[in-house]
Amino acid sequence: MVLSDMASMRLIEDVYAYHGGLPLGCMYCVQGVKIVIFITGLCGDKCFYCPVSSQRLYKDVMYVDEEPLETIDDVIEEAYNIGAEGASITGGDPLLRLKRTIKVIKALKEVFGEDFHIHLYTSGRFLTVDVLVELERTGLDELRIHPTTQELWSRVELAVKHSRSLDVGVEVPVFPDKVEELWKMMLWLDRIGVKFINLNEAEVSEHNVEQIMSRNYSMAKGRPVIKGSEEAAIELVKRATRHGLKMKVHYCPARFKDYVQMRLRLIRKAMRLAKYYENVTRDGMLEYFEVLHGVEDKVLADIGEATGGKLLLPTRLAREMGLMGRIVRRYPSLRGRGLPIEIESVSKKSYDAA
Ligand code: SF4
Repeated sequence: MVLSDMASMRLIEDVYAYHGGLPLGCMYCVQGVKIVIFITGLCGDKCFYCPVSSQRLYKDVMYVDEEPLETIDDVIEEAYNIGAEGASITGGDPLLRLKRTIKVIKALKEVFGEDFHIHLYTSGRFLTVDVLVELERTGLDELRIHPTTQELWSRVELAVKHSRSLDVGVEVPVFPDKVEELWKMMLWLDRIGVKFINLNEAEVSEHNVEQIMSRNYSMAKGRPVIKGSEEAAIELVKRATRHGLKMKVHYCPARFKDYVQMRLRLIRKAMRLAKYYENVTRDGMLEYFEVLHGVEDKVLADIGEATGGKLLLPTRLAREMGLMGRIVRRYPSLRGRGLPIEIESVSKKSYDAA
């Protein structure tokens, strides 16, 4: 079972902090059983800290788990490939492509059933009572609002007031010099009945680095995040516990997304897509051995797969037999099209050296 992976659990214990439990959407994320649907790069905000890449931001493009998305079938296929139990819809602002968003939610609920958990991120700028009712009617489970300005706090209030089955939460990056402002907001959110707040470690990306540095923030040593963001977030979680806030407060470290969430998702996908001659690496890559001049060997061809003048075998078997060739590793991708991205030659010398 993927969740028992020790490296992941240690990481969770080292850096995870929460008060009152995890929001339901996060419980699926931590197991890598949610697909991430980037529904559009269009957005009505201009946050200086926006981590979205310039290939995506303000462009009407779609991705599912880092792969370009062409049709809704791609979303369904990816969900099937990782054995998903839920989806996260993000952007940009998904509400700027409401019809598309509704179509995707409907399709996922139809194919995978009502229990398939879907959460959606928005700044709330385009949120109205009608939009909220439509999302709820379609089956959205959780709404995560990122109020980019104080004026948008009213959209959080609107969502809490008018939602019936929807869990309403807030998600914001944490800046070390804004702890008091954030705490004030947290007290207010707790009073109006918001279910949770996710405090994200503020990330530094190629896209936002200049803007972040020009505001006198600095980068943490060896990690692309703002120095002090983690400590500030943990301090807020502790305060929430001391004050006994009713809402859940959860700190999500940036490294968690790559090292745990994304890796677990890749491992699940690789395990479901692996051919009989491939094995899954700790990073979620698919690995096989390509034998040099091996196709003519009938016995070997029966064990592996002879294709295009090559013979593909499980790496361990090829090594045990002392075969010459190369090890190919690739990330699993939609319809198994992933390009080989790591190649390691295995020659007579490698065996002599071992
Ligand atoms: S609302 Fe989100 S996607 Fe839009 S600019 Fe701000 S951080 Fe980026």
